Amino acid sequence: MPVTEKIELQDPTLLRDSLFIAGEWTPSSDDSRTVVTNPATGQVIAEVSMATAEDVQRAINFADSAFKSWAQMTAIARAKIMRNWFQLTLDNVEDLARILTSEQGKPLAEARAEIIYGAGFIEWYAEEGKRLYGETIPTNVVGRRLLTIRQPIGVTAAITPWNFPMAMIARKAGPALAAGCPMIIKPATDTPLSALAMAVLAERAGVPKGILSVIVGNPKIIGGKITSSSVIRALSFTGSTEVGKKLMADCAGTVKKVAMELGGNAPLIVFDDADIELAVNGVIASKFRNSGQTCVCANRILVQSSIHNEFIEALINAVAQLKVGNGLNDDTSQGPLINEMAIDKVHAHVEDALSGGGKLILGGKRASIGGTFYEPTIITNVNEDMLVSREETFGPLAGVIKFETEEEAIRIANATPFGLAAYFFTSDLGRTWRVGEALEAGVIGINTGLISYEGAPFGGIKESGVGREGSLHGIDEFLEIKYLCIDGLTEK
Ligand code: ADP
Repeated sequence: MPVTEKIELQDPTLLRDSLFIAGEWTPSSDDSRTVVTNPATGQVIAEVSMATAEDVQRAINFADSAFKSWAQMTAIARAKIMRNWFQLTLDNVEDLARILTSEQGKPLAEARAEIIYGAGFIEWYAEEGKRLYGETIPTNVVGRRLLTIRQPIGVTAAITPWNFPMAMIARKAGPALAAGCPMIIKPATDTPLSALAMAVLAERAGVPKGILSVIVGNPKIIGGKITSSSVIRALSFTGSTEVGKKLMADCAGTVKKVAMELGGNAPLIVFDDADIELAVNGVIASKFRNSGQTCVCANRILVQSSIHNEFIEALINAVAQLKVGNGLNDDTSQGPLINEMAIDKVHAHVEDALSGGGKLILGGKRASIGGTFYEPTIITNVNEDMLVSREETFGPLAGVIKFETEEEAIRIANATPFGLAAYFFTSDLGRTWRVGEALEAGVIGINTGLISYEGAPFGGIKESGVGREGSLHGIDEFLEIKYLCIDGLTEK
């Protein structure tokens, strides 16, 4: 299919449609291609090469041969290159944002914020690479000394989703490269262009050949090659719990280290002592950002009965101001959903809630502009049995559950196999600690709906994942601890 919509860029060379393997831009070995569309218009914006199993193997082999020299470089030298990559990313933020919005749909302002946020991980880990300290351990035997060193784990792989096409890559490649590991990246097939553009900048920054590869293609073929490879020692995945579980099982064959950022079902609790305006802002940020398509989106909004009506009133006012449209338009705050399946899921959740006694307050249908746009929606009278409470909606539907006591809110919030993010709003210090400690989630936002920052650890508990991204902990996914026991030392 020919390209029918051109992405206007200051630097058109950022737009690539081939694979980046062994530091070369190459078509796939069988010349197959996949079409990338703009979800806002349905137009074709690129036709990108689809890697064959042979291409993936080539990327693995080359990464393997490039590993040693990258690992042996000083952290200072690696940091210089990564710092260049960070700076080039910031220098090209406008183009990167246009590429991102064109393939993913989110408003340009959110795309810019994602690029800057993602770049932060490259900068932060460039520096953290200089601080990968080992330890000395008081000896247990005379004439012996004990110490540990932390070494890069080897060749690594990343499989990333479409909802943050740039940041999910930076969150993984930043620490992997800083640790001294090559990384092979498989971006989501719907949104490969941001990943390819980041590879252009990595190449310009001086990242050596084979240290960063981007291979677009059939998830099962690439996933199969990655999980079965004994060369690849760690896999970092962000995506659905279902696929994550399968990849974990497949990685067992070669006992790979896995970092899994999987689905969530975040509760957002508004207590009767909350600042209502702050809570409404929190819901807008955490529920409606990226049109509800983030794994930390508030999925269940719990509001204490005594402030329920006042809160709903304020929420309606805020949601009614959201403007649905093409993300490339400056006034858009809600872009399209990624595809028809996403629309079907949101609508199924709406219909299920309404048939179970939910009350439609706002939205509840496709937006009048057509395509994959859905109206920002509020439903009250939601209960725990409804689909919207049990599954991640991944769309702009705020389902509100009314509760009476703190104990009840905590019980409802924790009644899920997931445990990624949770949010609550309160002005009571005792409650802040009590609820913060009681909620079963890896990330807790208190009086805020926005929690991500490269210096803080992000990750889930329960079925939401293993491992952390960001902070000093995130780099551990790409390191091994080696214990050196030196004996036979003469004591005088
Ligand atoms: P989402 O709901 O975000 O699309 P997925 O888990 O389906 O979540 O996708 C996340 C990433 O996992 C994407 O890059 C996708 O191509 C990839 N993926 C999906 N299925 C598989 C699979 N069987 N093996 C490897 N990767 C997969």
